[in-house]
Amino acid sequence: MDNVELVVTRYDPEIDDFHRSQTFSVRAVPGMTVLDALVQVRDEQDGSLRFRESEPGGWSGSCAVTVNDVPCLASRTLLARVILNNSAVIGPLKNFPVICDLVVDNPIYLAKIEALEPWVDNAKEQPASMTREEYFRLRRTDGCALCGICDANSDEYLTDPMFIGAASLLWTYRLTSDSRDSFDRERMEAVLGSGGLWAFSGDTSSEDLCPYAIDPVNQIMRLRNAASQNGYVPTE
Ligand code: SF4
Repeated sequence: MDNVELVVTRYDPEIDDFHRSQTFSVRAVPGMTVLDALVQVRDEQDGSLRFRESEPGGWSGSCAVTVNDVPCLASRTLLARVILNNSAVIGPLKNFPVICDLVVDNPIYLAKIEALEPWVDNAKEQPASMTREEYFRLRRTDGCALCGICDANSDEYLTDPMFIGAASLLWTYRLTSDSRDSFDRERMEAVLGSGGLWAFSGDTSSEDLCPYAIDPVNQIMRLRNAASQNGYVPTE
């Protein structure tokens, strides 16, 4: 690859009234990721460019951005795969407030997860260990790094800005499906209100985009099925 263009969304709340685009020419090399390209821009052209990094492999899930309108982890996305007509358009995750440039407001997102008390609470002498069948069913969900990609890909926010979020529902499924947890009913009821489980349409293609192959849409639909089987119905 030769030089390629990165069209990057810029936004500094102290200067800009609106988001703007800035184009950078990047020296592309084989094996380069989108994150490598952003680092090159920051280190060699514009030290004011802000984005979140992650370790090689992106296991922390902290480097999610939008490339050509598709959310992905910058550290796991090869630049060569996203170059169209010698350029790629890079922006912040959709459905998140932008702090600056490519940095979105994760604390609000993480606070929603934290409010779920996302740990197994064995307060009522439930079984001390999960069954083998449970383990194999749920171990996939344990890989969620809270990268935000499934929420960035959720059209539910367009119709309901108060949507609880795909990751929150995934974690609710994880916990309510664990026989060691004592609060499955309380956890389920906590996501049944406005903007909750019934607001999730499952129409997004998040299952294809989750970098950890968790298939959040399918897991959340299991939560919906469990809610229906337990007699919960959508309210107006
Ligand atoms: S389910 Fe996948 S896409 Fe969604 S937050 Fe977790 S790791 Fe990211």
